[in-house]
Amino acid sequence: MVFSKYKEFVEDGDLVVAWIGRNKLIPLKIEADQTFHNQYGAFPHSEMIGKRYGQQISSTAKQGFIYLLQPTPELWTLALPHRTQIVYTPDISIIFQKLRIVHGTRVIEAGTGSASMSHALSRTVGPSGKLYSYEYHASRYQTALQEFRDHNMLEGINGNTHLMHRDVCKDGFEIKESPLEVDAIFLDLPAPWEAIPHLIKHVSRNSSSRICCFSPCMEQIQRSASALQDSGWCDIEMLEVSYKQWAARKTRVIHINDAINRLKEVKRHRTEGFERRKERQRLEKQLAESAENGVEPTDSQPSTPSETPSKSPAMTEKVNKRIREGDEDYEWSNVARVDSNLKSHTSYLLFAVHLPSQLDNEIESTE
Ligand code: SAM
Repeated sequence: MVFSKYKEFVEDGDLVVAWIGRNKLIPLKIEADQTFHNQYGAFPHSEMIGKRYGQQISSTAKQGFIYLLQPTPELWTLALPHRTQIVYTPDISIIFQKLRIVHGTRVIEAGTGSASMSHALSRTVGPSGKLYSYEYHASRYQTALQEFRDHNMLEGINGNTHLMHRDVCKDGFEIKESPLEVDAIFLDLPAPWEAIPHLIKHVSRNSSSRICCFSPCMEQIQRSASALQDSGWCDIEMLEVSYKQWAARKTRVIHINDAINRLKEVKRHRTEGFERRKERQRLEKQLAESAENGVEPTDSQPSTPSETPSKSPAMTEKVNKRIREGDEDYEWSNVARVDSNLKSHTSYLLFAVHLPSQLDNEIESTE
């Protein structure tokens, strides 16, 4: 699989993830005669070839830069072309842990969608594992098939993945090649409860099998939980990943007296501004009347902007000085802030386990 090996230098034909900015990563296929363009200028692929992965690449006009990164399933999740909603790494991590996805695990996944989950599964189960992925939408199936082929994921071409074009709710999970038996199942479907009864033939006979249903609505979870119970699954539990990244920061301590003084200063400033406006209006009115009557104005000229009284020295200093976090002239306290930039999907995760001893009874009762 293209995402499971590391190499040092970028070569012609490589698939790379170009890091454009914190929230902008894109897949790029390196072709010597092509040029990548963005708002910072042109980046000829020929200049990328031979560069070390992770190295900064400047545009020809030296107005900006990008980084070329080796694709991993985690980077692919951030860069992939979206065809559907996808599962993000924080959810994938807990799903893998609960389903015990490791090297050698055999997994069923439905539906394939944009294949964010498929890439993570295929990499983690490795050459001794298997991924059976199902998608009923014709063009999504074709796109995923081409993607899996390009990424060397398909079984028979160094890979471990079978992709099937099939409606699993209607037609189940049968495959032509051999009886299908798996250790783990991941369902990201609108109606998982319709697919669950078909699974009983495919759970492992020798060890426990685990399932996860990923659904955004509680009603879907309830229906899936009932279907799991009816099919003999146990240890049914639901989790929700509410992923937050906490950042340790400093916040300025402002004492009550300082705050009151500041408010007074702002108020004084406002009053002064109001008085100045009133005075200017009075003088302008006087000037206009004098001009009408053909007499010289007796009072002073209206104040111009340059006559605006300056701010108090303390105020000017405060306005002009950009206070750096942790500046020793000020008092600070340590706080935790949430970083809201992290991408995660807010679906519920329903888990259950199937034990091999339950199997014979259930197969008999479904026959
Ligand atoms: N887990 C995927 C990912 O991380 O990219 C996203 C899956 S997407 C939300 C759901 C997919 O399931 C869609 O592509 C849809 O076409 C497919 N699907 C829905 N019902 C299906 C069914 N009965 N059989 C097979 N695929 C189905």
